[in-house]
Amino acid sequence: MIIKSAQFIKGIIGTDPILQEKFSQIAFVGRSNVGKSSMINSLLGLRNLVKSSSTPGRTKEINFFWINESFYFVDLPGYGYAKISANQAEKMRKMIIWYLQYAAANIGKIVLIIDANVGPKKFDLEMRDLLEEYKHVYLVVANKADKLTQKDAARMSQEMAEKFPNREVFFYSSKTSRKKDELLKKILEDQV
Ligand code: GDP
Repeated sequence: MIIKSAQFIKGIIGTDPILQEKFSQIAFVGRSNVGKSSMINSLLGLRNLVKSSSTPGRTKEINFFWINESFYFVDLPGYGYAKISANQAEKMRKMIIWYLQYAAANIGKIVLIIDANVGPKKFDLEMRDLLEEYKHVYLVVANKADKLTQKDAARMSQEMAEKFPNREVFFYSSKTSRKKDELLKKILEDQV
């Protein structure tokens, strides 16, 4: 799959007609600073379409990107941005959960991004349980794999296998974008 076009459409904070469009939505979720923006930009082959968490404005919204004029990439708010209050973090957590439960949305796949250096945290496990409960099709991607030594990588593979039994975890680096085509193929498989 070649990315021919990618365009930011809008950020939403609640119900919106875009949610009910027939086009498939491929949503990315992860803790703040996990490299979610970097990963989306890496997959799209663009440097700066998606702003990172260092620009807080957009990160509090659910951002829709129109890809190849046929489907959406949905960038969910990064959970737990350091510079926001606990109250606001909770609001964002609720927004993420609200989206994941929004029955009318054509959510094709969720990409759960985990920091390969840190491993799955409470929020990641909560997402895993929600995705299972709502029977979403999802893919787990461990980002920042370039930071791992071989020994750490083996340990992390083990930990991921324990936390995500019977599920492939894709180790990726948004920094090098190595295996980008393989990851893109996995994400778009059965979708568009
Ligand atoms: P977001 O908050 O999840 O959108 O994270 P960003 O994309 O803003 O990335 C957070 C930080 O991690 C930035 O300093 C990035 O340069 C860095 N980063 C993102 N992906 C990678 C990666 O694959 N490898 C390494 N080494 N750093 C990364």
